[in-house]
Amino acid sequence: FLAVAAAQPAARRSRQAQVRWGSRVVTIGGDAPVRVQSMTNTDTVDVIGTAIQIKELAIAGSELVRITVNTPEAAEAVPHIREQLDRMGIDVPLVGDFHYNGHRLLSEYPAMAQALSKYRINPGNVGKGDKKDRQFAMMIEAAIKYDKVVRIGVNWGSLDQELLAAMMDENAQRAEPWDAKQVMYQALIQSALSSAEYARELGMNPDNIIISCKVSGVQDLISVYRALSQRCDYALHLGLTEAGMGTKGTVASATALSILLQEGIGDTIRVSLTPQPGESRTQEVVVALEILQSLGLRAFNPSVTACPGCGRTTSTTFQELAKQIDDFLREQMPVWRKKYPGVENLKVAVMGCIVNGPGESKHADIGISLPGTGEAPAAPVFIDGEKALTLRGENIANEFHALVENYIEK
Ligand code: SF4
Repeated sequence: FLAVAAAQPAARRSRQAQVRWGSRVVTIGGDAPVRVQSMTNTDTVDVIGTAIQIKELAIAGSELVRITVNTPEAAEAVPHIREQLDRMGIDVPLVGDFHYNGHRLLSEYPAMAQALSKYRINPGNVGKGDKKDRQFAMMIEAAIKYDKVVRIGVNWGSLDQELLAAMMDENAQRAEPWDAKQVMYQALIQSALSSAEYARELGMNPDNIIISCKVSGVQDLISVYRALSQRCDYALHLGLTEAGMGTKGTVASATALSILLQEGIGDTIRVSLTPQPGESRTQEVVVALEILQSLGLRAFNPSVTACPGCGRTTSTTFQELAKQIDDFLREQMPVWRKKYPGVENLKVAVMGCIVNGPGESKHADIGISLPGTGEAPAAPVFIDGEKALTLRGENIANEFHALVENYIEK
């Protein structure tokens, strides 16, 4: 007998945070699904521009959206952005990203502190939580006062240099060989966890603490998060920081996040892509959703299985059909999601010839195998694993389109 292990992530049960806005509650950690986050790249002072981008990110599937709060003007803009969103019926919780002056902004702009649902604090440049820094304490006190969740997010680009130097010095005293990179990993983790410990001493509910330790290398991220996950039970925010542009950023993020998610590490993710000229900011959300759906952790949109095509493909009809079906399904989802519960689990196959076409189509809910080179000009359609009919002629694409729509309605 051959035992095949089910490819399910190992369970790492973390604490569960609840990020709230109005009646909307986004749970992170515990038994909640892995959540998708994103961040705007507009100037927060631009209330309308920022609200529009937040709306686009939320509609694309972002369950939390982070905005920069870096100046008094940005702090003043936050409640107005929230108002605009509420007016548009967008209840996505907002996360404030603070660096350097967050303690002052949170104490001087209470309307901003209330309009946000979560604060991101970087101990490397917002005071130093591990040294009982007053600035860090002021931010935690604001989170307690307004009952907000915090993410204590360290980043190796802004790691507390004093802490790192102290840990390097300590290791330099050791007789046995040591690895500077490992010390850097430990310094990141130490910075986050000692800050969290200090937050708890200040009275912060540990369920309201989320941790991240972001680095920009795939192997580094995997090493850091494996170690971090063993050292605490806080919910973890996962992301490859500064992942880069286009294919490189997408592949690096997918690689790092997938390995960790498969091990049950990560309660919320962000894909940090640098948008290329003309590329929508929502691309980072699209990639994050695809990562979770590919791993079978969540389902957001029906999936279209399509072969790559090869010398057996007679025309580009099947690629065009695959793209048309994929676009059509995505466009319909805002309506279908409400109308047809479970439609996101639909599987459609569009295949280019008889070699793998019928087999793959049978595995889908509805699939079509288009004729390849030398095959009879007929396209068998399979529904729920059975051959249902054969399409012929010039109108195959439109007829299959109608069949998919009909299948969903039924
Ligand atoms: Fe080529 Fe047919 Fe395989 Fe598609 S299913 S890649 S057309 S052999």
